[in-house]
Amino acid sequence: MLAAGITAFIFTTAPAAFFPLAIGCRCGADTRVLKTRRKIPATLAIGRFEALETQRHCPRRGEIHRSEELRAPSPHGGRFGFDVIEHIGRALFVHRRSERAVQAGSAAANIPVPISEIGFPGKRFIVYPALAHRACRGALREHMTAKGGCIPHPDATCEGDSPPLFSRLDEIDRIVPGNRKMPTEDSGHIIPLLRELKAAYGTPPAAVHDRGRAILKAVAAVFPAVPDHIRHFHFLREIPVRACLISSTERSAAVPGTSKPGRR
Ligand SMILES: [Zn+2]
Repeated sequence: MLAAGITAFIFTTAPAAFFPLAIGCRCGADTRVLKTRRKIPATLAIGRFEALETQRHCPRRGEIHRSEELRAPSPHGGRFGFDVIEHIGRALFVHRRSERAVQAGSAAANIPVPISEIGFPGKRFIVYPALAHRACRGALREHMTAKGGCIPHPDATCEGDSPPLFSRLDEIDRIVPGNRKMPTEDSGHIIPLLRELKAAYGTPPAAVHDRGRAILKAVAAVFPAVPDHIRHFHFLREIPVRACLISSTERSAAVPGTSKPGRR
């Protein structure tokens, strides 16, 4: 904490200079100064600070060399550090706090974020892991194969009127190999995603899902020979509903004129 305070003091009193670590390019040529640019990133460890980055370029191949030290805490093109992105993403999606509450918490952590911009780090919190999974699909597939395969669990979530976010979870490793926003939870949208993930990770030994029609249809189309199972949670959740419906039907049958066709 003390170290973070000292670091914050140092970074907030003067612009910090950043350079690429190496002068030479990997092609063997010496790089030349391209430009100096100003950036004001914000991280939880430091707070907001002014950075002056000197960029160099390779005269032979045109490759731009940026400061690795400046890229490490915050993404290129973004002003919020990875720790801020995780902090805001967890608050929004794991702890389900409102944007207003998250903004107040960020301001208290010396990261002032306008309420209109709280959603951007939140989106990066979702997108970056998806991109990371996509970038290392080969290694993930090897890992899954070594463990005997994965058990995909396709499911969708949505908030209010927003489009559903459809995800494919792996029930063994508890990771999310792929997800996509869809206009509706329809098999016509789910099937292409499942096919893409089947091509990337292979045919699983089994699948697990709820009893939604769209998911049932998509799994049958993409994994026709794979044993599929109803997830225990969904199975248990439906018992009281089915029991009520059956009980209601039985009562209706006992009292003529009170039946409700179509409820089963
Ligand atoms: Zn070069």
